[in-house]
Amino acid sequence: MTRVIGLTGGIASGKSTVSGMLKKLGACIIDADAIAHELAEPGKAVFEAYLAHFGSGVLTAEGRLDRRAVAEQVFSCPEEKQWMDRTAFPLILAEVRRQLAEAKASGGPLIVLDVPLLFEAGWDSLADESWLVYVPESEQLRRLCLRDNCTAEQALGRIRAQMPLAEKLSRADAAIDNSGTIEATRSIVKDLWKERVHEQFA
Ligand code: ADP
Repeated sequence: MTRVIGLTGGIASGKSTVSGMLKKLGACIIDADAIAHELAEPGKAVFEAYLAHFGSGVLTAEGRLDRRAVAEQVFSCPEEKQWMDRTAFPLILAEVRRQLAEAKASGGPLIVLDVPLLFEAGWDSLADESWLVYVPESEQLRRLCLRDNCTAEQALGRIRAQMPLAEKLSRADAAIDNSGTIEATRSIVKDLWKERVHEQFA
């Protein structure tokens, strides 16, 4: 049977990097962020829900969703955040479930559910096991500032808004230390693949 792994990690810990490595090894990747973006395209379900709820004030001049305007609405008011959680998340979850069923039917060795807030959203229940990519917070901060060109203060705000690393570590079935080189991480990922995926098929 195809195994389903929930892959997560704090922002800029290297989740996308590891997801790319697993893809090269033959995993089918279901990317929750990509699905969320896709559904926010004009005419798609999340786009239509936001437009109906907030009105055309959340559109850019080109008629696309203005993410900043949506964020302003949603994060300035707890009720709007609740509305978004009740509305957008189920739409995204429905598409994740659809892609999961499709991937299971096509029968590869491993499906990776790539979800930044896997534990926070409770979507780890969709997976057979959860893998966490992690680095110490000081390195997470350094990589986040470097990648997103933001200040340490902004980066820290984004890191602290997520579930603490210690809690994620206690929930994960496997922890991938990404504080070394990319090659070191690739070797950890290959070992995990051999141990948890390949042997199921041997
Ligand atoms: P996430 O998907 O968890 O937000 P990314 O995979 O985008 O994180 O990694 C965050 C940043 O750190 C990227 O710029 C990436 O190139 C870099 N990075 C990832 N792994 C390593 C590593 N082992 N050593 C150095 N830089 C890394």
